[in-house]
Amino acid sequence: MVLKSSEFNPDFPKQIIESGEWIFGDHASSFQKCYQCGTCTGACPSGRITALRTRKLIRSALAGIDSILSGDDLWMCTTCYECYEKCPREVKITDIIKIIRNIAAEKGHIAEPHRKTSLLVFKTGHAVPVNDEIKKARLAIGLTEIPPTTHKYPEALEIVRDIMEDLNFCKKVGICRETMDLEPLNVQKSEE
Ligand code: SF4
Ligand code: SF4
Repeated sequence: MVLKSSEFNPDFPKQIIESGEWIFGDHASSFQKCYQCGTCTGACPSGRITALRTRKLIRSALAGIDSILSGDDLWMCTTCYECYEKCPREVKITDIIKIIRNIAAEKGHIAEPHRKTSLLVFKTGHAVPVNDEIKKARLAIGLTEIPPTTHKYPEALEIVRDIMEDLNFCKKVGICRETMDLEPLNVQKSEE
């Protein structure tokens, strides 16, 4: 595929480093060590069933192709850390993906399944709420029927919601406390 010069944003690699270094330190610039061997793509379990090609994502980060911010591939990663363990250049790939996702989220690009999962956390305190089937499975392996979380202490749910709001998470994801539902996101162009 031939890319046009307009598809390159020379500031994108710097933006990744600056956005991520406050939390990931040196990991945020580790993608600059990538020599495109493809080991990450070969190791990626998600890439076996989706269009995600990890090497290509890292190449885009290096080359400044910021259209990845609005693409689906970024959200196909399950953050399993398989690539992170295997990279011969110690590129902290999963951390890089998280940083790029944060940048994408700032611009209103978040995959709908991730938004729905976030709403579940807001509503229940769990990304995967405990249902009857899970309760049975927990009992079968000797656990309590419900975990000592917001399921057991529902009064903590408002605290969870306050934290999500205080961290600006709700605004970024589009969660409305009044309606307890998702609102449309304000999508910015990648160069904004
Ligand atoms: Fe780059 Fe590491 Fe992936 Fe190889 S495994 S392509 S060095 S990120
Ligand atoms: Fe693939 Fe993401 Fe797992 Fe890396 S962390 S192997 S990109 S699913």
